[in-house]
Amino acid sequence: MGKIIILDENTSNKIAAGEVIERPASVVKELVENAIDAGADRIQVEIKNGGISFIKVSDNGHGIAEDDVEIAFERHSTSKIRRPDDLLSISTLGFRGEALASIAAVSTVQLASRVKDSSYGMQVEVTGGNIVDVKQTGCPVGTTFIVRNLFFNTPARYKFLKKDSTETGYISDILGRIALGRPEISFKLTSGASVLLHTPGNGDLKSVIFSVYGRDTASRLHEVDYADNAAAIRGCIGKPEIARSNRNHQSLYINGRYVRSRLVSSAVEEAYKTYLMKEKHPFYVLNLALNPMLVDVNVHPAKMEIRFSNEQEIFSSIYNAVNSTLIKSTTIMEQKDAFSPVAKASYGTERNAYKQQDFAFTDKAGDYRGKEPLQEESKLVRETIGGWAEGFAAETGAEEAADVHVAEFFEKERRISPSAKIVGQLFSTYILIQQNDELIMIDQHAAHERVMYEKLLESYNRKSAMGQLLVSPVSVQLTHKEFTWAIEHKDFFENIGFKFESFGNNSVMLRSVPYTNHEVDSRRLFMELVDKGLSNENRNTPVVADEILYTVACKAAIKANRTLGEPEIRSLLEKLSVLVNPFSCPHGRPTAVKITRRDIEKMFKRIV
Ligand code: ADP
Ligand code: MG
Repeated sequence: MGKIIILDENTSNKIAAGEVIERPASVVKELVENAIDAGADRIQVEIKNGGISFIKVSDNGHGIAEDDVEIAFERHSTSKIRRPDDLLSISTLGFRGEALASIAAVSTVQLASRVKDSSYGMQVEVTGGNIVDVKQTGCPVGTTFIVRNLFFNTPARYKFLKKDSTETGYISDILGRIALGRPEISFKLTSGASVLLHTPGNGDLKSVIFSVYGRDTASRLHEVDYADNAAAIRGCIGKPEIARSNRNHQSLYINGRYVRSRLVSSAVEEAYKTYLMKEKHPFYVLNLALNPMLVDVNVHPAKMEIRFSNEQEIFSSIYNAVNSTLIKSTTIMEQKDAFSPVAKASYGTERNAYKQQDFAFTDKAGDYRGKEPLQEESKLVRETIGGWAEGFAAETGAEEAADVHVAEFFEKERRISPSAKIVGQLFSTYILIQQNDELIMIDQHAAHERVMYEKLLESYNRKSAMGQLLVSPVSVQLTHKEFTWAIEHKDFFENIGFKFESFGNNSVMLRSVPYTNHEVDSRRLFMELVDKGLSNENRNTPVVADEILYTVACKAAIKANRTLGEPEIRSLLEKLSVLVNPFSCPHGRPTAVKITRRDIEKMFKRIV
């Protein structure tokens, strides 16, 4: 006898559920999308225990007719497409007819729904995929789903659920995304007694952005309104000063569907290139209206990925939309500032003029000038010094130019002596010392960063903070997801010198920040760490913690382009001298390079 059987429907639904329903947030997404497809303009979501024990989604859409309430739970049951051709021009969010069957296969679902023409509604209860009760009921026009005990019959899935607060974070994140794509619909999310999200449904995208991200973000936007042959693009992009260290604050909608697209995010980032530091990602909420024939939404069961048939054109449209908005929004004042002779004279290269431009833009926020991450800066200057050495060799006409190796120190046993002779400071960025028969050039930023990193690591390991109290506490507005993460990792933050408390409405009040060498923008630093943590949520924690320490160290360290007095230099040398491996910064860039006396003598052809 053969061994192959056709799986019964319950089993196959459970398997399908594995693809569509990964966690409570997936249930919310599917039910809310159904409500949108039903034409609702008010959608309310209530959850308990991160949605694991209870999710209720109510809408005022057109409802489900009496004849359809049971069949809606069958796999491949949909009212949204009829034949294969319809797949080519989908205008609804749903079409696979899988969601309800999948949700019902792994939970207990109660549905109550009424259509306009009926004087009564229908109530259906389904558990583990089996319909257990169908009856008439009194209810308003529209639909309410209650989903209880998710994954009660799939223990493997249940085991992978995270803490309630984390699951709540996922839910508020996805609902926020959906809401940003539908300003004309009012969404409300409550968890127990607290309202986590409430959008007005007045059709104004900025109001939704305000509800999701708070005032700081909502007041720093440019509006995009652009159309060409390939696409119509509308939405908001953030001013450079609200750019973040991960892409969490980027939302893209194609014909009303929230999707992720590498293509689109690279096009946007390309357009921002001259406005942002490396590793910074702009804020955006963009809606693309495209001919549905030119995009395939049926790539993934959760329908989060899409395929364009004309990638190149889409890339150009997005680039042009964002770029023209940025150019238009840059006021004459700022342009003038950015390219003023002073800026040019002090920096010289065009690339640096752009950098200066960033500062000019961001300066509007207040006390921000000169407080940006320094990695880029010191890298630039590092390039310059490489060029300097080569250029110098070239000028002297030395054949041995290639021989002038600016050797990197990696030998672990080598140390910097605290009493080495200080030759001076070069370009206000490098400390030159003479030690034995060598000229050592120390990158002051990289070196200090290394010192700060070691210090932070130590206090982190000893769980002893070395924060500095802020004269006036600083409030930081976060999204619910970010807020949850920050509160969950409060210990970590305290161990590196932050002190903060919850300040209501997904904001925190910072009272202390890690000790730094100069004034840093505490709010930005804190947000950057939250971004780092969240975008690496599923990675190994020590690695992430290390990166966070490194970020703080980078911010705290002496900057390049800063003149140092001899006592400051001496104190830095002393700190460096106690480190076991002072020659590389935490992420492997050299902190010091050397030129031996021999190299120099060769340059001058004293020896050959
Ligand atoms: P799909 O959305 O892909 O069609 P679902 O399994 O999500 O499949 O839903 C099955 C059907 O149930 C939908 O096609 C729709 O007709 C009906 N339905 C589900 N939710 C609602 C709702 N909130 N209001 C009206 N009809 C709904
Ligand atoms: Mg659906």
